[in-house]
Amino acid sequence: MIPYGRQDITEEDVAAVVEVLQSDWLTQGPTIARFEQAIAHHVGAEFGVAVNSATSALHIACLALDLGPGDWLWTTPNTFVASANCALYCGAKVDFVDIDPRTYNLSVEALNAKLIEAERQGTLPKVVIPVHFAGQSADMEAIHALSKRYGFSIIEDASHAIGGLYQDQAIGNCRYSDISIFSFHPVKIITTGEGGMAITNQSHLAERMFCLRSHGITRNKHQFNLEAPGPWYYEQIELGFNYRMTDIQAALGLKQLERLPLFIKRRRELAASYDVLLSKLPLLTPFQHPDTQSAYHLYVVQVKDEAPLNRDDLYSWLIKEGIGVNVHYIPVHTHPYYRAHGFAHSAFPEAETYYTKALTLPLFYGLKESEQRHIVDKLTKALG
Ligand SMILES: *Cc1c(COP(=O)(O)O)cnc(C)c1O
Repeated sequence: MIPYGRQDITEEDVAAVVEVLQSDWLTQGPTIARFEQAIAHHVGAEFGVAVNSATSALHIACLALDLGPGDWLWTTPNTFVASANCALYCGAKVDFVDIDPRTYNLSVEALNAKLIEAERQGTLPKVVIPVHFAGQSADMEAIHALSKRYGFSIIEDASHAIGGLYQDQAIGNCRYSDISIFSFHPVKIITTGEGGMAITNQSHLAERMFCLRSHGITRNKHQFNLEAPGPWYYEQIELGFNYRMTDIQAALGLKQLERLPLFIKRRRELAASYDVLLSKLPLLTPFQHPDTQSAYHLYVVQVKDEAPLNRDDLYSWLIKEGIGVNVHYIPVHTHPYYRAHGFAHSAFPEAETYYTKALTLPLFYGLKESEQRHIVDKLTKALG
């Protein structure tokens, strides 16, 4: 089976991990800070807060922005459930904004219309989470302009997008947001096994997230409420979690980051090849907005209505033939848990229509040209 995504681990990666295993610090050591600084520097932002997953990063990002009971968080339905669940962890309420049918990202027109309505009803969101779907940036400049007008904070879920560009700058630099989130799960662009990072340019948000990832404990004198009786002293100043990344993981992440440009280059080459090789088949290849250069975490096609097989049948046939296709995403509001929270099945029609046609083809650094040709041959056999 050719998988849809796969990590690429070298001997150098392994050696870096082993070096940490033989050192004094397996966790809470110096490699974490090096990894945080390296990622922040790479995207051109001030602070990085490393955690054990992007899900944890989303949670502490919401808390740092004071999201809580009575507040609304809005995100796109075309995402992994974590982008919405983070609101519920904080006791806040979730709503969704339908997608742009060209980019599959959160639609700025739909957001604008929903904000006008919410202002009238007094239900404006406190936080909006655009997701850079497949690695292509959402329209951040426009979303940022709306945030100024309506007073919401922005968390970019950039789990797909490290290495991508928006308006010729690195995605995740927080130029148009308060916090950006990366995921280092093995199917993402670089990996730490499990892991994530929150990026920000605002020192108070970084401080708050450092504290929240480690039980709400601070060792920073400036944050103490009481006078320190001695150098052993620390204070718990709020309720936090153990969301720490290990130094073992950070060492792997640092090595992976060195190869990020290589990973992105290869992903773009493979995507460009798919664009050409699939052009005669009844498949809609990914539209790329001129403001963006995708990191291509995913290569998603839509099966056109005139195709001899629909998406469901094509999916099953390809899996049978050993091609590990996937579907991104089941619209979040259609999951039973969210339906039980009151979302109707036809609430976000663009995301729902897209979902019935979307198919993710294998795309990862180590995918060979011969494998890509084999995938295209199978698609041609099914659809040609
Ligand atoms: C993978 C992913 C997450 C969660 O990442 P983890 O590191 O696995 O917690 C969140 N949002 C999106 C869009 C993702 O793709």
